[in-house]
Amino acid sequence: MYKSFLIKYAEIGVKGKNRYIFEDRLCDQIRYALKRCEGEFEIRKTQGRIYVDALSEFDFDEVVENLKTVFGISGICPVVQVEDEGFEKLCEDVIAYMDKVYPDKNLTFKVETRRARKNYPKESMEVNCDIGAALLNAYSEMRVDVHKPDVMLHIEIREKIYIYSTVIPGPGGLPIGTNGKGMLLLSGGIDSPVAGYMISKRGVKLDAVYFNAPPYTSDRAKQKVIDLARLVSKYSGPINLHIINFTDIQLYIYEKCPHDELTIIMRRYMMRIAQQIAENTGSLGLITGESIGQVASQTMQSLAATNDVCTMPVYRPCIGMDKQEIVEISEKINTYETSILPYEDCCTIFVAKHPVTKPNVNVIRRHETNLEERIDELVRVALETDEVLHIEW
Ligand code: ATP
Ligand code: MG
Repeated sequence: MYKSFLIKYAEIGVKGKNRYIFEDRLCDQIRYALKRCEGEFEIRKTQGRIYVDALSEFDFDEVVENLKTVFGISGICPVVQVEDEGFEKLCEDVIAYMDKVYPDKNLTFKVETRRARKNYPKESMEVNCDIGAALLNAYSEMRVDVHKPDVMLHIEIREKIYIYSTVIPGPGGLPIGTNGKGMLLLSGGIDSPVAGYMISKRGVKLDAVYFNAPPYTSDRAKQKVIDLARLVSKYSGPINLHIINFTDIQLYIYEKCPHDELTIIMRRYMMRIAQQIAENTGSLGLITGESIGQVASQTMQSLAATNDVCTMPVYRPCIGMDKQEIVEISEKINTYETSILPYEDCCTIFVAKHPVTKPNVNVIRRHETNLEERIDELVRVALETDEVLHIEW
């Protein structure tokens, strides 16, 4: 029945030159999402609207499901296209459409016509009235309500005539690529994939970095992170995932620094390295899954000590969320089941029994001087042996 989709997007702040950047990025992401679907599609931008036209048979649910992953879409309207074969035929088509879409005719409606083809013999208002009359005539239970109708029936007159009345909610947000790029510190946990999803929802393209500690962590733990990156890339678009071998740095910190400060010092080196990769690859900020008070390394004091080494902005979209709220988003985006797989994590292996919960930045800085002899060299090697994987859905 449906041959097209009208894509609705929130236009706030989308003016002038920004408008076509916004629309072009939105079309790119729609294309990326539809690549996974059976069938052939054309994406059209006309007169401030974006349409997806199906050029072949397609699976309606599959297309809608995938369009729901495209940030920037506020609504998806399935459209019926009919040929222009005179006004009487159009009335018949609209009557048939209403019959199919609304089996229960006890409803109020309003007709809203847009005449994109100006040589059409009737004006918009006339079309509204005449189609309204035809519907009232066909279905005695229906009533007109111009203020708060149950059904807003849209008629768009183009080469063909488009009929639509339902809006399936999209994910909202802004199209990927309209807001630069960020570097996600992606662990195998629940929080960081959610953090990546949330920042990419604001139009930010993602890269990611994972700190791996072989042989203390297994290939399965690494594969889990790759799988999570792939799940996030369904929404964010392709991700370059940097895998950094962190083992020697961790062992060196373990050897030289007080054990209750291991986690904090380790996290400071993660931030330093992530920042270095971000600078080299054009990311404008770091993204983490941290949430105040969740664990010892996420108290206000610990966050301050970690943040102390960052010169780039650090975005922490989960910062004020409870675990349960984060879990709900991870279930929605389908990362939860993968996140809870029980593989070891580089942080859990070297973690102290009683980590400091109120680290003092000056003390941490002083203890880091114990690392002076070899740390720069170890960081250089870690960066040089960076393994980069291109991940896409
Ligand atoms: P998550 O569920 O995201 O793993 P967490 O509650 O386990 O978070 P931590 O282990 O303290 O918290 O990590 C805090 C943040 O630091 C993570 O959200 C992530 O952004 C980053 N991080 C931690 N470990 C790694 C790692 N091995 N590689 C990359 N980033 C990491
Ligand atoms: Mg973790």
